[in-house]
Amino acid sequence: MKIKRFRAENFRNITECELEFSDGVNLLYGDNAQGKTNAVEGIYFFSRGKSFRMSEERELTKFGAEGFRLYIEYEDKDGTHTLEYASFGREKRRIKDGYKVAKMSELVGNFRSVLFFPDNLELVKDGPEERRAFLNVAIAQIFGTYIDNYAKYKQVLENRNALLKKASKGQYIDEGELISWSEMLSEYAAYIARDRFRYVELLKPHIARIAGELSGGKEEVTVAYKCDIDNPDADIESLKEQYKGVFTSNLERERIVGTSLYGPHRDDLVIDINGVSARSFASQGQQRSIVLAIKLGEGEVIKEMFGEEPVFLFDDVLSELDEQRRKYVICGMRDKQIVITSCEGEDFSFADRVMLVKEGEYVSAHR
Ligand code: ATP
Ligand code: MG
Repeated sequence: MKIKRFRAENFRNITECELEFSDGVNLLYGDNAQGKTNAVEGIYFFSRGKSFRMSEERELTKFGAEGFRLYIEYEDKDGTHTLEYASFGREKRRIKDGYKVAKMSELVGNFRSVLFFPDNLELVKDGPEERRAFLNVAIAQIFGTYIDNYAKYKQVLENRNALLKKASKGQYIDEGELISWSEMLSEYAAYIARDRFRYVELLKPHIARIAGELSGGKEEVTVAYKCDIDNPDADIESLKEQYKGVFTSNLERERIVGTSLYGPHRDDLVIDINGVSARSFASQGQQRSIVLAIKLGEGEVIKEMFGEEPVFLFDDVLSELDEQRRKYVICGMRDKQIVITSCEGEDFSFADRVMLVKEGEYVSAHR
């Protein structure tokens, strides 16, 4: 998959722009606060259906404007496609290959990209929540029913927690209701654990290989799915039974604390480097390198599943990486399309296309 063109209107600090991309490495460079990340955000919007910076949609509209418009043209194995999104207050317009579509879900899932941005470092450093969020976003791109099951799980969990909270306050609760929420929770938990386990298994070998290559063989990085059942590598009926056991055998303690103590909402992705916990022991550069290996691994899984490379969007990936790791990113990925942002523009001989970013304008730089 290759992005060919990106257009934006009144998006963030961009009044109007049109960017063309080469099939190889595309560098957006410029000083801080000029619009490098804004362009990446606009492109990634079509993969996620929203901004990765968690802002409200109205924050994306340029200050003083009525609304914004985004457009991409990309190529996949079936040919050239276009996607367009316009947001004017409550009025939204979604266009796929020239035809209006009603739902965001029809727009996303077509253009596949993998994003690295500096906040991703939280993936290694922070608590399990960040890692679960990564798994959720990555798996949603791969397994179609995941998001639905996840939403249902959250809903049932909320109901079960409300009941447990009542119990913890000594209020009357219907025991039958608690059992039936627990049973329902084990159904959805089983599907989530199945997909998470399968996804991490797909990811594992790629991360191990890429982390080794990035560090010249010095670093061994392993990831493992951590969940509250003994055997996640089992058929769906067994997973349901295992979760049923977990949800019914800990009720006494859960009634005291007033919340669900076990289940996929407590899962983690355990990351080790050279046999020790990456969270506790990885250096800054190693953390960045691990996240990079995970992100490139995410791309490999997409390629395996869909038979096509995604587009790699690398926001500020190069800082803190040593020479060898930088080389790997910019030279070792020759067969992939990369859009990369950087504040440093002195040496851009590695890029096939260079764009200078200044106050929301993108000017092709000649080498
Ligand atoms: P850095 O190198 O620091 O990462 P950058 O080039 O990636 O910088 P961006 O994050 O793209 O910078 O943001 C550029 C500018 O866009 C910021 O100055 C920000 O204030 C501005 N901006 C963000 N949202 C809006 C908006 N809705 N309207 C106008 N300007 C905005
Ligand atoms: Mg930026």
